[in-house]
Amino acid sequence: MNISTRLILLLTAFVSVVMLAASLLTLRQREAVLHESARAEMRAHAFTLRIALEEDYRTGRALDAQRLISRLRENVGVYSVILFDQAGNVTHLSNTITPDEFRFLSEAHQAIASGAVSENERSIGGEVYFSIVMPLSVETERVGAIEIVQPISFVNTHIAQARWDIALTALLLCLTIFLVVVIVTRYSLARPIKELLGGAAAVGQGDLNYRVIVPNGDSELARLAREFNRMADRLAEQRNAAMHEAEERLGLERALRHSERLAAVGRLAAGVAHEVGAPLQVIDGRAKQLLDRHDAPTEARQRNLTIIRTQTERITRIVRNLLNLSRPYNLQRRQIELAQMIRETVESLEMQAESANVSIEVSSRCSIVVEADPELMQQVLLNIGRNALQAMPHGGCMRIECERDSACKDGKSFAALRIADTGAGIAADHLPHVFDPFFTTKEIGHGTGLGLPVSVRIVEEHGGWIEAANARAGGAVFTVYLPVAVEPTSVEHPVVGKV
Ligand code: ADP
Repeated sequence: MNISTRLILLLTAFVSVVMLAASLLTLRQREAVLHESARAEMRAHAFTLRIALEEDYRTGRALDAQRLISRLRENVGVYSVILFDQAGNVTHLSNTITPDEFRFLSEAHQAIASGAVSENERSIGGEVYFSIVMPLSVETERVGAIEIVQPISFVNTHIAQARWDIALTALLLCLTIFLVVVIVTRYSLARPIKELLGGAAAVGQGDLNYRVIVPNGDSELARLAREFNRMADRLAEQRNAAMHEAEERLGLERALRHSERLAAVGRLAAGVAHEVGAPLQVIDGRAKQLLDRHDAPTEARQRNLTIIRTQTERITRIVRNLLNLSRPYNLQRRQIELAQMIRETVESLEMQAESANVSIEVSSRCSIVVEADPELMQQVLLNIGRNALQAMPHGGCMRIECERDSACKDGKSFAALRIADTGAGIAADHLPHVFDPFFTTKEIGHGTGLGLPVSVRIVEEHGGWIEAANARAGGAVFTVYLPVAVEPTSVEHPVVGKV
């Protein structure tokens, strides 16, 4: 039940109770007034009749008494009029009452004896009557008495009418008050509250442009509506400011990313220019020598041609790697066991490791199967492995290990392939750039700075990623994360090899 209905019912119940009490009180008063006015009327009739009869007796026209009594009976409010003689016997009476009932009336005797007026209520034939008995005197002598009788039911008719009037008035008043309360609560309470509820719901759903209709005047609800609109204004302002700020930040980020991209393109262009420019210069120099010196010995000419070929191969390699960075890979995925792939790759590195006096340790604690392109994955391991060997020119140890369920991302489990060396490690300011294209710390002709970026690209194509770090004990650690393809079938399958 909503608040306005509850208020209407409460007010109506309260008003009804008050109206009922007031009506009962008014009815009691009306009853008393009606009774009193009926008696006063009877008293007036009796007094008038007494004067008339006493006058008749005085002038000796006693025969007019019956006519007077009959005339008075014409008044509907008067039920009966009785005239008593000096001895208290009935001499005249109006025609409605049988004489036997009034043969002897003690009040008449008392009135004649004492000269006092008496008022009584008495029952005749089961009905209650109001009677006034008055003595009749001529000079100082009592000549008789009169009684005027009126049925109480005559007053009751008026009282019943009054009851109806009061009940009708009370009902009409209750109805009017009910209607007024309904209209007032609907317009002054229910409507503004409904409006505020609608506003709160709209603002709650993010519509900060919603404003409630403010009721007229300065009532609490009008003030509440004004405050609500003010709050919505402030919220809208704050949201606009936040949006403006976010847009500015986005613009700045876009500009920053654009300049970063430009810088990256610049670095790439500089790298290409440098890496391709150097062998081109060598080729140009050697070609000039061949052109200028026709008579040069065959040996010298062949050396120049070999150098030109080597440099051309270098340019081809750079271009191929550059293409590898941008071309879409057509992955030939197969389920491969990492331990197996590591063993095969290590075989390709054995010679280089031996000449650099580097031992290779392979440790795989369990059988891990990944879904990958075996050739490309081998290329990744070779790139990282070669870098590790090159980082240990005076010998050392390269350790390769893999771990199942090493990381979890988007509900997927990732295996880790870790390649650690005991070299000098990566300088702290180089660490963020090792995956940048053309970033190299190697001497000219020994490094292109494309090995790691190409490896990152390949691993990302497989849904994984590469991390580079320095080991606490020294040396660099590269970790390749790859999504695990299937649950391992053979558990605890350590493979340890040393080259
Ligand atoms: P490149 O080998 O031609 O220089 P890479 O992209 O493979 O290109 O490597 C980029 C750079 O990362 C290397 O020049 C080197 O400075 C650094 N780097 C890579 N591997 C290692 C490592 N194991 N130890 C120290 N530095 C490394």
